[in-house]
Amino acid sequence: MTNDTDRKYWDPALETQSRAAWNALKLELLQRHLRHAYDNSPYYRASFEAAGVRPEQLRSLDDLRRFPTLDKKILRERQEAQPLLGDLAAVPEREVVYVSASSGSTGVPTVSPFTQQDFDDWIDYEARQFWSSGLRPHDRYAHSLNFSLFIGGPCVLGAQKLGALTIHAGTVPSERLLAILKQFQATAIWTTPSYAWYLGETAQKEGLDPRTELAVRRIFVAGEPGGSIPETRARIEALWGAQVYDYYGLSDIFGACAGMCEEKNGLHWAEDHILVEVLDPDSGEPVAPGERGEMVLTTLKKRARPLIRFRTGDIVSFTDEPCACGRTSQRLLGVHGRRDDMLIIRGVNIFPSDVEAIVRQDQDFSGEYRLIVDRPDHLDRLTIEAERSAAYAGSDAALAERLRERVKALTGVGAQVSILAAEALPRATHKAKRVEDRRGQVWTA
Ligand SMILES: [Zn+2]
Repeated sequence: MTNDTDRKYWDPALETQSRAAWNALKLELLQRHLRHAYDNSPYYRASFEAAGVRPEQLRSLDDLRRFPTLDKKILRERQEAQPLLGDLAAVPEREVVYVSASSGSTGVPTVSPFTQQDFDDWIDYEARQFWSSGLRPHDRYAHSLNFSLFIGGPCVLGAQKLGALTIHAGTVPSERLLAILKQFQATAIWTTPSYAWYLGETAQKEGLDPRTELAVRRIFVAGEPGGSIPETRARIEALWGAQVYDYYGLSDIFGACAGMCEEKNGLHWAEDHILVEVLDPDSGEPVAPGERGEMVLTTLKKRARPLIRFRTGDIVSFTDEPCACGRTSQRLLGVHGRRDDMLIIRGVNIFPSDVEAIVRQDQDFSGEYRLIVDRPDHLDRLTIEAERSAAYAGSDAALAERLRERVKALTGVGAQVSILAAEALPRATHKAKRVEDRRGQVWTA
């Protein structure tokens, strides 16, 4: 690939092909990938046989639904049964050149292996995605994600492949990161949305205006739903005078599997690498386009460890309408929460992101909030703690009532609201902990 900065697409033929061409490509890749998994992974051979299916029975993309699903628990069990890589691996270890490991909250981290070709494919995809978000060879890109076994770390190599000057900043204290951004006059960074917000506020407190004294004009964010919540994005953009692009990654596949183009209307999906199904979590049936369901993913090329019908636990919605940018890949419209983040309050589903959208579009709130669920007298109770903004001079009771009504209107859930002083809640330096479920036993779907 050339570094011609006037070029609109990284890979024009692929990125603008028709839906029929996408589907034909996916079917061909999927048939080959299922065969590879069946022939080389003891786990897949056994699980396909237990389900009574064979790779050659897949003649259309819909046929994939006959194949069994798996989840994180199975990944962990198979890895523990057969260290290091588990028996989902489909190449000998000598062909593996890189592993990431995901920091699960319980148990041993699960590893994700790559062959050299898997790794090269991944980095080329990251370059394509960065290009679609407007990153160009003249940019200076500060990668502010963890490098220690974390799959987000090597994404910086995508920016490097694209030709940008890359600064492997890592996760350093905020004062240090601000100094790096200032010294190098970095034009782009990647971090979590909570941290982008926190870092911008920290800069202001230090008397540094990110809009005029720093050069950051593109912020890539991932790891939390905030980047796809317009109100959150707008607040971060205003703080920095920059454009915010949401990215979605999955530790068991790629650091980014999708990201926003400059239209910022959904996240273009790595459709030639990962096949997506959006399923009703209860019935397992596909939901209609645009509807919310659990995202189930199948790798199409990753030879070291294929993932066939991996249940992510993420509740998402997708569209396959072409984007105004001219790209035709499917777009992830939103990650509405984790399936296990989804709160069920007296039988009604509510996501933290629903509340987030409300508190962040109202200037009388600081934007920080927390949800607490408990069950006094055997009845679920949702309490929303929300900070008033420093400038708000009205009554807390009026503010609480406004939030209560809006949450009720959006979700149907009646909540208690507690208004806190600005800065009363702890600021997130990594992933924000926004939900505290104090119910002894949580009823989940
Ligand atoms: Zn687009």
